[in-house]
Amino acid sequence: MSNAHYFDGASARLHLVELASGDGHLTIAGAGIDQRCPLDQVRLAEPFIDAPAVLYLPDGGRCEVSDPAARAALADALGYRPSMVMRWQRHWYAALAALVLLLAVGAGIWWYVLPAAAEKIAANIPDSLDASIGASALKGLEKKLLLPSRLSEQRIDQLRALLAAVSPVAPRHPLRLLVRNAPMLGPNALALPDGTIVITDQMVLGVLGKATDFDDAGRAALSGVLAHEVGHVQRRHSVRVLARSSLTAAASATLFGDFSAVAAGIPAVLANLHYSRAMETEADQYAIDTLRAKGMPTAPLADLLDWLDEVDEKSGARNMPAWMKQTLPYASSHPGTAERSVRLRRADQALPTPPAP
Ligand SMILES: [Zn+2]
Repeated sequence: MSNAHYFDGASARLHLVELASGDGHLTIAGAGIDQRCPLDQVRLAEPFIDAPAVLYLPDGGRCEVSDPAARAALADALGYRPSMVMRWQRHWYAALAALVLLLAVGAGIWWYVLPAAAEKIAANIPDSLDASIGASALKGLEKKLLLPSRLSEQRIDQLRALLAAVSPVAPRHPLRLLVRNAPMLGPNALALPDGTIVITDQMVLGVLGKATDFDDAGRAALSGVLAHEVGHVQRRHSVRVLARSSLTAAASATLFGDFSAVAAGIPAVLANLHYSRAMETEADQYAIDTLRAKGMPTAPLADLLDWLDEVDEKSGARNMPAWMKQTLPYASSHPGTAERSVRLRRADQALPTPPAP
């Protein structure tokens, strides 16, 4: 027997009643109220520690029981079993939910806090370190991907002259060009933090096509590629990427422990994909500004990007896993090639018309 508040489900009027259970039925009795309903048709709402227990009756009525002892007795009489969510809360599922929350917070840190911190770290890495980072990066590349060039010395000199023409007056680091045969990289170019710019034979031969020497468009395209790489050096992109991947790798290792260097490394690489595209745009802008300052057209670089896009598609680079694309600076810019080409072509339209001969 327990006291309760009864609502008939039709009006807001509160009735004081007494509840009793027995014989498989719940009896509700009070002034003008005499109701009896089968216990298996009465539903107890999810109980809260300090709130009244709420009973839903089959006719739409409702009872509220405040006395904690009566609440427990009612729950017993009704054969109440805590809901699935309540049971979860009491077990390790609670830990799982907390983990999900933690991951959400972690994602926020990953995408917003770490990049900002990495930029700060990169800004504090002295320029003098760029040389040693560049040298060790080149060593790694030469061991695995870069072979001596098959191009003639004369051709390589031509390329060095193109780099000299697009080099800034006071570069961040002395710029030097390495031409290398790189069947694994295909047509490609990359910039190392110490000012070393590598261009592959495959890239040069691709621009050359069947011609025996560069035409104006070929020179402009390669100048564009080199200026783009100079942009990466000037804006210190590789050091910034390195700072970010090291920081994200360190954060991965802290979070996941030392169980797998791969697991720790993958998120770091993935995190950099987005970053790299922003950098590509920045390097493209640098190339546009440089080419325009030299009075050279930017459309040939757009044509070259389109051609690289086709090459990638044919070689299946588009289907590469993201981490592999990251190792290929040109492929990693996908699917933004169309957008990049449009920007480069637009830049040309702003060029002053050359004076009539
Ligand atoms: Zn680039």
